[in-house]
Parts: sequence; structure tokens; C-alpha cells
Amino acid sequence: MVGTLHTRFSERTLESLSAQLMARRDAICRCLESLQIELTDAAEHRDCSDLLDESSVDDADLNTDRLLMAQARRALASTKAALERIADDTYGQCVTCGESIPLVRLRALPDTQICVDCSRAVRKHAPEHEDWDAGWTTLV
Ligand SMILES: [Zn+2]
Repeated sequence: MVGTLHTRFSERTLESLSAQLMARRDAICRCLESLQIELTDAAEHRDCSDLLDESSVDDADLNTDRLLMAQARRALASTKAALERIADDTYGQCVTCGESIPLVRLRALPDTQICVDCSRAVRKHAPEHEDWDAGWTTLV
């Protein structure tokens, strides 16, 4: 079969991975929308509570929402980038070392762009990024 894809994955595998990525993208979009509404509501509510001299809006909750939003935006960006890599035929290749990322890892983290070894290296050198490719998976 002659195709334009040079990737080591079959068309069927790529289709299922991109379906997974699109579902993830949509789920993140919905989460972002509801977080945005929540934040807007909270901001409005805060105006009211200032007037009423109540402190019913919890700053910690707001900060959690903002944190979740930042995380969701990052996940959305990497999910979109992964879909682009499928289109570009560079999907499944580690952007750091160029090695092939095993399919089992891609199934678990379809938007990952680095292999396990590079991921470990990143975690070692920048521990603050420890959840950079695993954090969102637990939220969706
Ligand atoms: Zn690598």
C-alpha cells in the first residue's frame, strides 16, 4: 500500500491515537470553559461580597481554579501540538533525542513528545516539572 505516511505506525493506530487526542482536546476545552465561568462568577461574586462586607469567596479556591486553568491550557497546547505532529508525520518521535517513543507510552500519554529516558532527565534537572506530562491525565 502506498501512502503519504512514513511513520512506523499503521493508519489504524494513528487514527485511534488521533481520536484519543481529539477527545482529550474536547474534554480540556469543556473544562477550560467551565473553569472560566467559575472564575468569572467568583470575580462577580467577589464584587458583591465587597459591597455586602462578606468574605464568602475563598481565595484558595480561586487560586486552585487558576492553577487548573494554567495546567489545562498547557495540556491543550500539547494535545494540539500532538495532533499537528500526526499531520506532520513526526508523531511518536522524541523531540529531545529523536528516538522512537514506544506505542505503549503514547497510548497512556498520547500528547507526550519525549521518551521515558528524556522525561526522567527532565524530572531530574527540573523537579518542578514533575507533573508536566502526567498531571492532566489524572484530572480528565
Ligand atoms: Zn528522548
